[in-house]
Amino acid sequence: MAFSNLYLYFDSAATTAPCAEAEEALLSALRRYGNPSSGHCAGLDAKRLLEDSREAVASAVGCSPDEIRFFSSGTEASNTALFGLAKSRKRFGNVILTTDSEHPSVREPLNLLEQDGFRVLRLSTRNGMLDEREIREACKLPVAFVSVMQANNETGAVYDLPLIRRILQEEGCRAPVHCDAVQSFLKIRNNRLPAFCDVATLSAHKIGGMKGAAALYIRKEIRIPALLLGGGQESGLRSGTEAVPAIAAFGAAVRAKLRDGGRIAAMEVIHDRLADRLTKAGIRCHLPESRLPNILHISVPGVPSSWTLNALSAKRICVSAGSACSSRNIKDNPVLAAYGLTKEEAESSIRLSFTENTTEEECRLLCEALTEAAKLKRS
Ligand code: PLP
Repeated sequence: MAFSNLYLYFDSAATTAPCAEAEEALLSALRRYGNPSSGHCAGLDAKRLLEDSREAVASAVGCSPDEIRFFSSGTEASNTALFGLAKSRKRFGNVILTTDSEHPSVREPLNLLEQDGFRVLRLSTRNGMLDEREIREACKLPVAFVSVMQANNETGAVYDLPLIRRILQEEGCRAPVHCDAVQSFLKIRNNRLPAFCDVATLSAHKIGGMKGAAALYIRKEIRIPALLLGGGQESGLRSGTEAVPAIAAFGAAVRAKLRDGGRIAAMEVIHDRLADRLTKAGIRCHLPESRLPNILHISVPGVPSSWTLNALSAKRICVSAGSACSSRNIKDNPVLAAYGLTKEEAESSIRLSFTENTTEEECRLLCEALTEAAKLKRS
């Protein structure tokens, strides 16, 4: 891969290197620079790229292409979904059901909706598990909508969304479910999102695509009013000229993953080997029962996260202290506290994340550097 020699990169949950297919699609789309809304041949060429990508994303989700809308980031897509659902579902209830460990792109819009009068119920996610009784109690309330991430970006825990769907049905609650699937998209086997959610957020730069492209899956029956008004692009949901090169690269990255099945087994092998080696070196691995194959959260006893991060960075090894967006305030990271890490564990915690292309040699160098960093600080 073109970029693999620059860094020893263990921060793919923050962003991935673009895959070769995405690079190629990007360059080719730069030459088809028409505006997809234009009626001439250049516009039609650009429009074709857009629709090819829509088909690729739809086939990965298992939905129809007209249930996919493009955005510029997962953050923008989730904001649109949440503020839109709040508006269209207000008359059905004032309760929003979510978890205590959502990404800020969901957490912050919900905080704002709470200030505006919604009652936001945050389900606990201790050890990466939802509590069935807690969900059942919440479903008896007038729920406007649900927003629960499929996999946590810091701990890698996969939350049981089918369970939420089942309980909602059993309790006769018809609230739509939004799912932030940014980390889980194409990293879980047989992941049929439409089977358990009505709206899902996806982001290109976590799967080998480019920054600047993301999508919402929106089941046909769900109404989401637009946040951005203007030229009416994306069927009126997201005005603004689409970022065709980034979206073309998104489609190419999705197709590449669909072709090789995402090589999930390869990531599982890396995950297990890293956990095994690091545990033997006295480093604590936090292993949720149900987890993503590409995220391993660890604590290096007695060593502050920032210290490990900087020591590794000096060797051009990239890791993260919590999620990239919140790495500056690790001490009061609500996600790690929600998972159940102690203050000491949270303050020394590091997220390792990788791809199917991460090599055995890269893992060996990472483990060596982590072991060394831990020893140096203690001496
Ligand atoms: N949701 C989760 C779980 C994430 O990890 C991220 C990014 O780290 C986002 C949403 C935001 O996506 P984007 O960077 O495309 O705005």
